[in-house]
Amino acid sequence: MINYDLLKEEIEKIGVELDSYGFDRFDSYAERLVRWNNHVNLTAITEPDDIVIKHFADSLYILKYLHISEGQSLIDIGTGAGFPGLPLLITTPELEVDFVDSVGKKLAFIKDVLRNAGLVARVIHNRAEELGNDEDYREKYDYAAARAVAPLNIVCEYGLPLVKLGGLFVSLKGSTGKQELKQAENAIKVLGGELVKFDEYTLSNGDARSIIIIRKISHTPTKYPRKSKKIDTRPL
Ligand code: SAM
Repeated sequence: MINYDLLKEEIEKIGVELDSYGFDRFDSYAERLVRWNNHVNLTAITEPDDIVIKHFADSLYILKYLHISEGQSLIDIGTGAGFPGLPLLITTPELEVDFVDSVGKKLAFIKDVLRNAGLVARVIHNRAEELGNDEDYREKYDYAAARAVAPLNIVCEYGLPLVKLGGLFVSLKGSTGKQELKQAENAIKVLGGELVKFDEYTLSNGDARSIIIIRKISHTPTKYPRKSKKIDTRPL
């Protein structure tokens, strides 16, 4: 379904290596995404080249910035149809990935892709802020990542409580990243984070993107994350 040459070009630009199984896994992921999208609302992007550039390559940009080592863990918050977590897992199977979403149908899709690809990962049906108050998940991850889930000051309260001390929270944004970062300065500080990287770049179709990387430098105070309604109505 997808153009392997285009995917090869994209991943080479990012500096990722992929064997032939990896290409086939991306191909059947794209095919399932389009098929499932007929009955579950997963994505507005359904053209094969767009899937490669706007979903797969966009998710994999994280690997330009992170040096993942064997056995490290990542939680993908508000994963939807698996972005960025599934492309990361396909290219980096040594990463332990937990997929989280508050909508069960999206997780059924993730399970189907995992099963078909022979990949192993945990799929969690919950809100990220609930997990942040659960000792089994709080401050347990090397990385938390979120793409297109909520404004940065809100998504920081979902993500930073889950990251262990010294770990990283990564937020993928469109063209509003700089503005959102300004608005999130207080949230980052209060939740125990420190900005380590902000970068703006352009996907090969011309779309503007940005990446924000925050290191957890002190424990998140126990009163965070707050209840969902409070996070939304009184963002930090
Ligand atoms: N990350 C995917 C992507 O980039 O294509 C999906 C983005 S979609 C716009 C946002 C997703 O986040 C939805 O699937 C929604 O159910 C989920 N979500 C929003 N708030 C959440 C929360 N607090 N905890 C878990 N999932 C959440």
